Amino acid sequence: MTAAPLRLRRDADALTANWRALARMSGSAACGAAIKADGYGLGAAWVATTLAKAGARDFFVATWAEAAELAPLGLPALSVLHGVRDEDMAAALSGIATPVISTAAQAVRWRAAGGAPCHVMLDTGMNRMGLGGDDLAAGALDGLTIDVLMSHLASADEDSPKNSDQRGRFVAMAAGVTAERLSLANSAGIALGGDYAFDLTRPGLALYGGVPRPELAGAIAQVAFPQAQVLQRRRVAAGETVGYNATWTAPADTDVAILNIGYADGYWRGFSGRGQALLGGATLPVLGRVSMDLIAVGVTGQPVAEGDWLEIDYDLPRASAASGMSQYELLTGLGSRFDRTG
Ligand SMILES: *Cc1c(COP(=O)(O)O)cnc(C)c1O
Repeated sequence: MTAAPLRLRRDADALTANWRALARMSGSAACGAAIKADGYGLGAAWVATTLAKAGARDFFVATWAEAAELAPLGLPALSVLHGVRDEDMAAALSGIATPVISTAAQAVRWRAAGGAPCHVMLDTGMNRMGLGGDDLAAGALDGLTIDVLMSHLASADEDSPKNSDQRGRFVAMAAGVTAERLSLANSAGIALGGDYAFDLTRPGLALYGGVPRPELAGAIAQVAFPQAQVLQRRRVAAGETVGYNATWTAPADTDVAILNIGYADGYWRGFSGRGQALLGGATLPVLGRVSMDLIAVGVTGQPVAEGDWLEIDYDLPRASAASGMSQYELLTGLGSRFDRTG
């Protein structure tokens, strides 16, 4: 196949180092990995293979379709976070992954199908997924063999009283349930300290270079490096405009490079006039709008020619601040047109 004019360089060493750092911060708890959404856009198989080599055991995807794609890898432990619907039972009973039971109906379904070991999600106040205290009181989990009993923090990336409140509710609810292991912390939760680690942590974002809390800033390295090819270099005369809706007017004659990246690649409107490409130590500003599949960056005085490659600045905290997109959106938006390397 023809090489694409767009690459995603993935740094396996950075991914491994991030996981090791999060594992260290998890203390005596095991450190798993959330690899849903195609490994947050980087490629779930690549992420899982890399981290399994580093020693990770517990991997989490969202759906059974994601689990089926990874089944050939034979990962040590794969779990499906979004439960087990009727439609999922055939896949679930084939043993490719362990369901995270999150409703009473799922518990009934799983028990009726033989009740192999499962995980359970408790709702401790996020009101997204999970069984509540009423379900427990009604005996929803009776007779199930539970490996990981987990809950999920709503505000771990903030200094919110919600964190200790959820932790307290988790401990109280878990006291009435028999399970092998307890798990509460995502990436940001790990940074909240040892009280939140329990037996197993479940980082996602920070594995991939995301920094949800300042405590993680020094410990987490960038993993995903988009690189776009220069399709054209042109001189824009003073007073001329660039891109859709002509939002940028050249104040002086300006050299621009037209790069092959845009909306379908996750490079969304928020980067218009705010993103940048990198060349050596220089920063090259995005000029005007992201114009569907193309952007223009200023390259006056820079040795940039048609066919060259430029790195798009994708330091996640910085790119998030520039674009107004969350670090999660930046990663999971990376589309299918990249040649993923590394
Ligand atoms: C996605 C997810 C995680 C990982 O969260 P990050 O904020 O990306 O670290 C952990 N647990 C559950 C239940 C999730 O859905």
